[in-house]
Amino acid sequence: GNVTFTMIKPDAVQDNHIGGITKMMEEAGFRVVAMKKTRLTEERAGQFYEVHKERPFYGDLVKYMSSGPIVAMILEKENAVLDFRTLIGATNPAQAEEGTIRKIYAKSVEANAVHGSDSDENAQIEGEFFFGADERF
Ligand code: ATP
Repeated sequence: GNVTFTMIKPDAVQDNHIGGITKMMEEAGFRVVAMKKTRLTEERAGQFYEVHKERPFYGDLVKYMSSGPIVAMILEKENAVLDFRTLIGATNPAQAEEGTIRKIYAKSVEANAVHGSDSDENAQIEGEFFFGADERF
């Protein structure tokens, strides 16, 4: 697959890291196909993370992801999903490799700066959750 979906999460937007994070993505060879600053309601955040609804952190995650604006993006690159997960690093920043986006910008396992799709199928679903066909170039 050659696209993935990402969000810059509320803490990183709040801390003025949209530019720094997007720069790392572009310098790693990703091209921005679609991009929007928006805010998720609790209901929309709950839908987005529906797969996690049985996990103990689901309620907190939904509250956090709707706590402020986010930036949603579709990114293009060969091998996008896997290469992007390498670029962002481990979910828990304490375990993230040096030089990864989460190592640099994440504050905690929850406020971990960015989302990255975990499969080609989810990249499609998540991209369509935010963007219409006329918003991707
Ligand atoms: P993402 O789906 O955001 O790219 P991920 O695939 O690295 O993250 P998941 O296990 O799918 O991680 O969890 C989704 C999100 O839920 C994490 O990015 C994080 O914000 C939050 N989360 C995961 N584990 C925990 C936890 N133990 N405590 C609090 N929040 C958590």
